[in-house]
Amino acid sequence: MTDPTPAFPGGTILGYPRIGRRRELKRAVEAHWAGRIDEAALEAAAAQLRSATRERLAELGLGRDDSSIPESFSYYDQVLDTAVAVGALPERFAGLRAEDGSIPLSAYFTAARGAGENAPLEMTKWFDTNYHYLVPEIGPETVFSLSSDRFAAQVAEAKAQGFTTRPVVVGPVTLLALSKAADAAPERFSPLSRLDDVLPAYVELLAALRAAGAEWVQLDEPALVSQSLGHDDAELAAAAERAYAVLSAATDRPAILVAAGYAQLSADAWRVLAASGVEAVGIDLTRGAVPAVTTGLESKTLVGGVVDGRNIWRGDLAAAWAKLEALQGLGAAAVAAGTSTSLQHVPHDLADEPDLDPRLSSWLAFADQKTQQVVTLARGLADGAGAIADEVAAASAALADRRSAAGVRDGAVRARTAALTGADFDRGDYEARLAAQDAALDLPVLPTTTIGSFPQTGDIRRARARHGKGEITTDEYEGFLRDEIHRVVDLQEDLGLDVLVHGEPERNDMVQYFAENLDGFAVTANGWVQSYGSRATRPSILWGDVSRPAPITVAWSAYAQSLTDKPVKGMLTGPVTILAWSFVRDDQPLGETANQVALALRDEIADLEAAGIGVIQVDEPALRELLPLKQADQPAYLDWSVGSFRLSTAGAADQTQVHTHLCYSEFDVVIDAIAALDADVTSIEAARSRGEVIGDIATSGFSHGIGPGVYDIHSPRVPSVDEVVELLDRAAIELPLRQVWVNPDCGLKTRGYDETVASLRNIIEATRAIREKVSA
Ligand code: GLN
Ligand code: ZN
Repeated sequence: MTDPTPAFPGGTILGYPRIGRRRELKRAVEAHWAGRIDEAALEAAAAQLRSATRERLAELGLGRDDSSIPESFSYYDQVLDTAVAVGALPERFAGLRAEDGSIPLSAYFTAARGAGENAPLEMTKWFDTNYHYLVPEIGPETVFSLSSDRFAAQVAEAKAQGFTTRPVVVGPVTLLALSKAADAAPERFSPLSRLDDVLPAYVELLAALRAAGAEWVQLDEPALVSQSLGHDDAELAAAAERAYAVLSAATDRPAILVAAGYAQLSADAWRVLAASGVEAVGIDLTRGAVPAVTTGLESKTLVGGVVDGRNIWRGDLAAAWAKLEALQGLGAAAVAAGTSTSLQHVPHDLADEPDLDPRLSSWLAFADQKTQQVVTLARGLADGAGAIADEVAAASAALADRRSAAGVRDGAVRARTAALTGADFDRGDYEARLAAQDAALDLPVLPTTTIGSFPQTGDIRRARARHGKGEITTDEYEGFLRDEIHRVVDLQEDLGLDVLVHGEPERNDMVQYFAENLDGFAVTANGWVQSYGSRATRPSILWGDVSRPAPITVAWSAYAQSLTDKPVKGMLTGPVTILAWSFVRDDQPLGETANQVALALRDEIADLEAAGIGVIQVDEPALRELLPLKQADQPAYLDWSVGSFRLSTAGAADQTQVHTHLCYSEFDVVIDAIAALDADVTSIEAARSRGEVIGDIATSGFSHGIGPGVYDIHSPRVPSVDEVVELLDRAAIELPLRQVWVNPDCGLKTRGYDETVASLRNIIEATRAIREKVSA
């Protein structure tokens, strides 16, 4: 044990992006997967990245030898890293272990990605972020033991480089709370019931870290803030009490920082952690308030998470400072400045964005700038507020500038949202709409359609890249896109689909495309953020009031419609999804921003109607993912999110058929919200859960059109006619026939043409078979 005070005198961050400023890790890992570089070369690339990260963080002001630099690298995912360290891999990967029982990198990647018969671990969202972790599978038989020396090796690697860093490990309560019961486990088995068994493996891990030279370890326990994991606060707090009694009693260990970001630590967990034997607790003060005074703090360091790890705004240093002062009032041994969460959710460095408007840039902070803010605040804690007065004033001035900047508040946009009334959110009677649509569209029973995108071929991507580089003219590029649309429309006519799409070849991404065409958004050149594994997205920055300078999709949809007598479905991304997959302004409620986006979409819908488009889909795949962690916050969220969707679509005429699409199958969680969207037709994922969703829909009494996906587009498999018949049979039995639509699970953009055509052909054949059956 080391003397814990004063800890992190120069401030600390809870984690740093690991993909590399130019996505170096993605390139190295994918080259390794493709067999182009061997494991040694991959390890060398990763080591170089870690070394550069440490140097960079020291350059930004974190201490080289005081454990304030986190050792937070991951090849794929931090939950998998920890599961592997404590040996918690499912039985099906047992054969991949080394002779000594340890889990090699190859097994780690197999668990992440699957191989042959060995399905990968399931992937799901990390709290309310756009990051996805791998879900460990834990059963009564899972054997826990230290199975990887990776964490310790990285500490030793840092030592050799002259750094004393702080390894970041997912804590035992969170690891188990995020796990799912292994397939073979008895019904109602809770992985958290294995807490006592996993703790010895953590004790071993702590000893190994200490032996490698770690003076501190960070155990991430965000589960202690959440109420959405199927455990209540008291149960999680009791688990934390038990876990940290055992871990702090370990004789051979580094000092422990328990960090709980993403929301307010529960009152129970706060009391338990304060009273425990750990040396430091990190709390999120951007999403939670300063907690109540409690006992046990006299010997602890509190890391005040006052710099927001979740957004890219420069933020309010004066407010952050005030929170640190309030934290000092709790009577802890020391208070350190920190981030609210790992910085893995933000891009590396604003300096990589020379093309951003300088004024906008002055309002922003990426990971490196946030690290500097932490360092500044730490200097204030050490030397007094006066020492950082200039920095605080500069941040306040930037905020004031942002508040008053043209574009941040656009009078015309504000006048429009201020004038909204209840009627603007209401499309009126569904039965009347249905009758008008039946007359206008004249569709067969079980109408067939797709979700929007057709395969994004190499040709499409190349043409887009060449246009971006100026190698082909805009005319040439648009000609190419028209040919592509023509091909896709002809293909759908040949296949015999009923409602056609244009295929979305013009879109790089369903959110960025709209961001590029709306005022109030900026796009970055290098602002990549890890989404999962080697995948990263480049969220747009929604900084100002949103408006639509010109129609966006109308020309493409109208062109497609000109080629066919069948209805072509216009294709828009909904307000909630546009917000969810962007960095959104933090100076007004999300609902207000969503309504601005909704009005821009409403205008687009009016223009599509005027151009003769009679079916319009507004995608909301992110509706579920923005659902707040705390149940108490959920009704307000559903209110504004559903409201913004309704605002975007409620201007449509009765005979215009409004579709929406949501791509997950946890239908039961948000069924009421989906019904409240009041879309005429909703398509959802169902193929993977073998149509169980159909049962959920039937029992919920959902009354509008519904297309439970019959083709799992996440897999290259072609569904057979028989299996589609089986799914449709079930739908036709459980639901009124006039409600049912036939479609794939999601867009086809990631699929190849061969499997797409074969699958659509089978879907249509199956649909014809059912139609014949029901008409007989
Ligand atoms: N219309 C989009 C597409 O087909 C929907 C994608 C999504 O739901 N993620 O690609
Ligand atoms: Zn989808």
